[in-house]
Amino acid sequence: MEEIRKTAQELDMVLTVHAPYYINLNTPDREKLAASKKRILNALRMGELAGVRSVCIHAAFYLGMDPKKAFANVRRAVEDIMKQQRKLFPHVNLALETMGRPSQFGTLEEVLAISKEFGIYPCIDPAHLHARYNGAMNSADEWHNMLDRYADALGKKSLKHMHLHFSGIAYGPNGEKKHLPLEKSDAQWKEFLNVLKNRTVEGVLVCESPLLEKDTLLMQKTYAKL
Ligand SMILES: [Zn+2]
Repeated sequence: MEEIRKTAQELDMVLTVHAPYYINLNTPDREKLAASKKRILNALRMGELAGVRSVCIHAAFYLGMDPKKAFANVRRAVEDIMKQQRKLFPHVNLALETMGRPSQFGTLEEVLAISKEFGIYPCIDPAHLHARYNGAMNSADEWHNMLDRYADALGKKSLKHMHLHFSGIAYGPNGEKKHLPLEKSDAQWKEFLNVLKNRTVEGVLVCESPLLEKDTLLMQKTYAKL
């Protein structure tokens, strides 16, 4: 962790972490819940040591439950995790991610409400929202609206330290199927970068395309031209 921290400092890079996927903060199984919290806390602790800014999580599945009940369960688990913040991860943000399938906890409203309550900020993945709503959320108007709702919940300054994901994505009525390279998808990714520029959004955008390096550079170069 120390080596990662030093290297990032030398290269002037901002780091974020993705927590393990084997997490469900809505599980009725107490052992699974404890294991989920432990994985998240470990990611946060290691993030702290590595000088990471934010750790994102796929918080939960609804498991057929009423979303309100799932929300209450996730909220309680996040509260437990946040009790450890001062001691274990004082400089790291816990980012609940917007998720790509309707069976997964993680609408924009859900992650914003929890983030607002605990003074943290979510990981916004517009590709996931695009898939979750079967093709919506793929235009400048919709992204402006998304950023408006984000700023309404967390304050205007929150747009200056965002944790974002982006990629192309395949989807259907059940939401996300898989991530796709930018140019092999319907993602209006240039338009998205334009919105970020017009809103003077700052922070980290992590490219989650299967062509990781290629699409990262494509987005970086395109953004620089804007
Ligand atoms: Zn993710």
